[in-house]
Amino acid sequence: MAKGTDTSFGAPKGTRDILPPESWVWQEVVGYAMDSFALAGYAPIETPMFEHTEVFERGVGSTSEVVGKQMYTFDDRGDRSLTLRPEGTAPVVRAVLEHNLHRGALPVKLSYEGPMFRQERPQKGRYRQFYQLGIEAIGSDHPAVDAEVIEIAIRFYAGIGLDTSLKINSIGHVDESCRLGYAKVLVGFLRDHTAELAAEDRERIDTNPMRTFDSKEKRTQEVMRAAPLITDHLCDSCRDHYASVKGHLDAVGITCEEEPRLVRGLDYYTRTAFEFVAGGLGSQDAVGGGGRYDGLAEVLGGPHLPGIGFALGLDRIMLSLGERQAATPGPVVAYIVALGDAAERRAFPLATSLRAAGIGAEFDVMGRGMKGQMKDADRSGARYAVIIGDEELATGEATVKDLTSGDQERCPLDRLEERLKR
Ligand code: AMP
Repeated sequence: MAKGTDTSFGAPKGTRDILPPESWVWQEVVGYAMDSFALAGYAPIETPMFEHTEVFERGVGSTSEVVGKQMYTFDDRGDRSLTLRPEGTAPVVRAVLEHNLHRGALPVKLSYEGPMFRQERPQKGRYRQFYQLGIEAIGSDHPAVDAEVIEIAIRFYAGIGLDTSLKINSIGHVDESCRLGYAKVLVGFLRDHTAELAAEDRERIDTNPMRTFDSKEKRTQEVMRAAPLITDHLCDSCRDHYASVKGHLDAVGITCEEEPRLVRGLDYYTRTAFEFVAGGLGSQDAVGGGGRYDGLAEVLGGPHLPGIGFALGLDRIMLSLGERQAATPGPVVAYIVALGDAAERRAFPLATSLRAAGIGAEFDVMGRGMKGQMKDADRSGARYAVIIGDEELATGEATVKDLTSGDQERCPLDRLEERLKR
């Protein structure tokens, strides 16, 4: 359990509470993200926190680590196997198919935000309940959509003041002429070097050979430096698609680092795969990633519907923003300091009328004296203390004190809203 009052309960391992002041910034970042996604026509969607386990087994793929080792799967009281969502894309595609959104105008463009669940080994920037911001564009394989999706993420990061770099790759599509052919070449290479690989990576040769590129083991990484690369084995159409994506990125001034060893953790990815990396985060430095999933809709029982999207890791984004969090004030503008019985009775109605006018307001409910109320006003983050006492009430005025500059002036109560809005 964490340090603090011993209540005998702590949040479960790998989960955490998002407390003020961080939670203010959190809320702002989420709002800003959803607004920036909306600027490109992505509409919000909410899907359940849990799905039928099959959605992920089929969608994300049973050879992926997420499905094989990390899912929170349980039987409910009706003996149905359900799983807390480990990611957002398969649920969104499931919802699109279920509600026939793909029968309307294409592409279907959707955005989401919320918690995901994976039973990973917790460490800084890696949690068991973590939060993602995502978009999905479903129904087009046009390379400009790939570039659009990437550009939206980059504009969002820049807007919140986060420096990131973009790594990109194409992992081809599932066909003998493309990735399946490449996988055979790769497996041949891995077999030739089995003895040099770390033990756990040997197991992956047959199930998920491309994931070997993601190994954290030094000896495996050493071997992979000489491994054949997917980009040398793409079919013509995937190669053209990749070139075109890069062309579209170039047209909007986005530079990317081509990373032919970039593979993604979820099995559904095809063609474009990308990742955003930020500094100062140690080993968990990917603040977002995504890619195409041209076969996902079919795997989930739908028609061929190529799609692309990203998921940005909110927890890591917040870690990267770091220090800034403590400095962000909440939305309270005015703190009503009431002195004397009559004024105390006015404090609550005054606060409610300010709030009704859209001005954040707080007042004392702890029976504090003047000094205590002024201290609490500082705690509240309010810009102004609105002081009311017998004298002020007699003249229908309040004293408005600017808590930053210390300046104060009298203001008629009926002009208070106008004054505070200024
Ligand atoms: P993925 O869904 O695995 O492609 O991950 C997309 C992004 O979500 C990553 O780049 C991370 O920023 C974030 N993320 C993934 N897993 C975790 C986790 N266990 N804890 C915190 N953030 C995560």
